[in-house]
Order: sequence, then C-alpha cells, then structure tokens
Amino acid sequence: MATPTYEIYALKYAGPFVRPASMVTWFQDMDKTTKINYYIFAIRGGGETIIVDCGCAPKLAQDRNLNGYVNPIEVLKRIDIDARKVRHVVATHIHFDHISGVALFPRATIYVQEKEFLFWIKNPIAKRAPFMHTTDPVGNRYLAKLEGTKRLKLIRGDKKILPGIELLLAPGHTIGLQVVAVNTGRGTAIVGSDAAHLFSSFRTDIPSAIITDMIAWMKTFDKIRAKASSIDLIFPGHDPALLIHYPKVAEDVVQLV
Ligand SMILES: [Zn+2]
Repeated sequence: MATPTYEIYALKYAGPFVRPASMVTWFQDMDKTTKINYYIFAIRGGGETIIVDCGCAPKLAQDRNLNGYVNPIEVLKRIDIDARKVRHVVATHIHFDHISGVALFPRATIYVQEKEFLFWIKNPIAKRAPFMHTTDPVGNRYLAKLEGTKRLKLIRGDKKILPGIELLLAPGHTIGLQVVAVNTGRGTAIVGSDAAHLFSSFRTDIPSAIITDMIAWMKTFDKIRAKASSIDLIFPGHDPALLIHYPKVAEDVVQLV
C-alpha cells in the first residue's frame, strides 16, 4: 500500500507576546523587540489525526496571564477535531507552552523522547530555577503518572510511529526535543516546534536564546535541513508568519501543506 500523504495545520492558541528580539534570535538585535505566538499543530491524512504539542492548560494560562489565550480544545474544534477523541499526541518537549495541556487529550497516546522524559521528570537538575521557569509541575506530574501505561510511549532517537510519520530526535533547545517528519503532497515536511522559534533560524543558523546544548543544536539544524524536501517545508514553533503566509481555514488556523 502506498504511504499516505498528510496535511499540516498550525493553530494559534495564544499571543501575540512582545519579547526581546534576542530571545528568539540568539544575541542579535539586542535593543529590539519582536512578536511571537503560541501554537499547536495538527497533521491529518490516511484516516489518522496526530496532534503535535498540547498547548497550555487553562489554569496555567490564567496564572501566567497569557495574552490572547484560547483553550486548545476550542481551537481544535474550529477544524472539527475533538480533543477527547485524539489518539496520537506528539509532545515535542517538556516546556509549559507545549506540554501543560496534556490532560486535554484523555485518550491519546503521548509520544515523548525518553531522554526528555527522564530529564524533566526524574533529574533533580530540572528542579533548578532556569528549568522550573520553563516547565509546568502539574502537567509533568500527569505525564509521570502515565509511565508504564499504554498511553505513554518513550521514544529512543528516530522512530516511525505511523506510515509517513517519523519522529526525529533534535536536541539543542532542550535535551531531548523531537520534531516530526511528515510525508506530504509536496514531499517531506518538518513540524519543527522549538527546533527554531522563527523560520529565519533554519537559514541563518541562529537559534533562539533558550539553549541546553548549542553544539547539538547545530547538528539538529543539519539533520532537519537534510531530511526536509525543501527549506520552505520546515515549520518553526513560534513565528507570527505562520499565520500570515498560508491559507486560512478557520480563525487563527492555517493549512501549511
Ligand atoms: Zn515554545
């Protein structure tokens, strides 16, 4: 049987946020500000729906006073996806804006890199201030409880999880970040999440300023560029341009491929 082709959607669930430009382009434009959004991604095809990242839980969004926040459940409804019925959720990494909404997907199998899970859930260093600032203890406890159940798949390195859907270990931003290589009508596309905050990083090699391992990050850029059929098919995690340059299919939802 032929490998299915998939469509990829970006769904904005919060933002815009004004940030120092140097937060998203490391040590560049130190005196400027820029805007970013928070997204989740949906991949559809071959009779399957795969959600990439969970967004932020409503309670935490309130605590952090997230501008423009909409519950990811409501955003998914705009393209007729019922979060309660979703069976596959790829958690790219364990930062709060990507993982804390994990309980919104009560029937999903969660795919996370084993390295990422072990660090955030078990390593005492993850409890230190710079790490605590970027994660969510509530979401992490939910994830920890799934260990040993069918609902949590700990991935070691690169792995195909469905025909035409491959997870790629892509460290740098975090110790075990993963991206998703997707077979589309235009070739292999990459749902890159925070392998870069912005499209420009994949051309300039300048990552964001939230770095665990810069050397690993450079290798990740090489790996992603080699895997994608075109640099235009590599999608970053926070770029406002995601919403601007692609066909709009619902409010704050665009079809990337
Ligand atoms: Zn992020």
